[in-house]
Amino acid sequence: MSIISNSLKRIKPSPTIAVTQKARELRAAGKDVIGLGAGEPDFDTPDNIKNAAIKAIRSGDTKYTAVDGTPALKKAIISKFKRENKLKYTLDQITVGTGGKQVLYNTFMATLNKGDEVIIPAPFWVSYPDMVLLAGGKPKIIKCTEQEGFKLTAKKLKKAITKKTKWLILNSPSNPTGAGYTKREIQNLANVLIKKKKVLILSDDIYEHVRYDNFNFFTIAQIPKLKDRTLTMNGVSKSYAMTGWRIGYAAGPKDIIKAVGKIQSQSTSNPSSISQAAAVEALNGKQGFIKTRAKAFRYRRNFVVKSLNNIEGIHCLTPNGAFYVFPSCKGLLNKKTKLKTDTNFVQRLLEKENVAVVQGSAFGLDGYFRISYATSMKNLKKAMSRIKSFCESINK
Ligand code: PLP
Repeated sequence: MSIISNSLKRIKPSPTIAVTQKARELRAAGKDVIGLGAGEPDFDTPDNIKNAAIKAIRSGDTKYTAVDGTPALKKAIISKFKRENKLKYTLDQITVGTGGKQVLYNTFMATLNKGDEVIIPAPFWVSYPDMVLLAGGKPKIIKCTEQEGFKLTAKKLKKAITKKTKWLILNSPSNPTGAGYTKREIQNLANVLIKKKKVLILSDDIYEHVRYDNFNFFTIAQIPKLKDRTLTMNGVSKSYAMTGWRIGYAAGPKDIIKAVGKIQSQSTSNPSSISQAAAVEALNGKQGFIKTRAKAFRYRRNFVVKSLNNIEGIHCLTPNGAFYVFPSCKGLLNKKTKLKTDTNFVQRLLEKENVAVVQGSAFGLDGYFRISYATSMKNLKKAMSRIKSFCESINK
């Protein structure tokens, strides 16, 4: 009898974490590796937020809190939704977890029965399908092409919904493509969903504040007829450069919020009291740096997109959010280059030029790769020049 459970056998470790780990190992072995795999801002957490955490420690805010978040943090989250998204929630419609990741995991554990389907548009964030599998559900992957801007269309959504559909996951701006859904695109999806009354909607808004070119953020809970069955997940990791603090949250239907808290009560209990105090300051404190940082990301995005589009065999869309681009390497997968798949491409790139990126197939769409540009311009310049040499050398 195997000591490992059957449900664990259904899933694989995160491929993005695997790339980061491989890059770390090569670096430890003395190689000059540039890692473009990480999903976190390279900026530091702002000082006012750090100071709030220090104050929490000094004032003895170091005990267990309410399992699903302190009232102070829940109030700050309610204000955030009101201020930024014009959405009204009450305290019992909010839950706080140890990162958005835990909130999502708990949501699937709390709601999925065997065979329940979860529609996941691809390219997707790597954890969605595995979380669904772990919870006993069935991921239903819908491929969204480059021509569609890597976004789900109303037509594809309509076709994907069955009697077993429990959730639709939307992630805008997206990891791994950076694509953001416009209000009109969300309304088109909503027109389908309004008629399918049993489908729940999970909106992952974690990259809400990482957006460019006056892209107007719109979230599906803002469609009044869908608010009652939408769970909106967000967090402080990406917006406030707080990945290590582990605070994520969700707002939505009371019964789901209660169930999510119930799982947390028998697993991790409350997220760190200190991190929660810091998150209150993040949400209630000054917000100016968000725009300054988005400007720095935009500059890097423009550089990376331009550099990639100058390489023969590669082409890349210009996304309006997150800190990723998702270029195609299909032009380099042929007999001449002896590369068959995007995985071959990223492995050879790492071996030959010491640049770590993640293959598109890990995100559910073959023939692409993901670059995270949340690193310095110095690194990006070096990386782009190495990627160019690599592509030229295999294309000769
Ligand atoms: N959702 C998406 C699309 C992400 O990229 C991430 C992190 O990489 C998360 C959720 C979870 O973030 P955290 O657990 O740090 O809040």
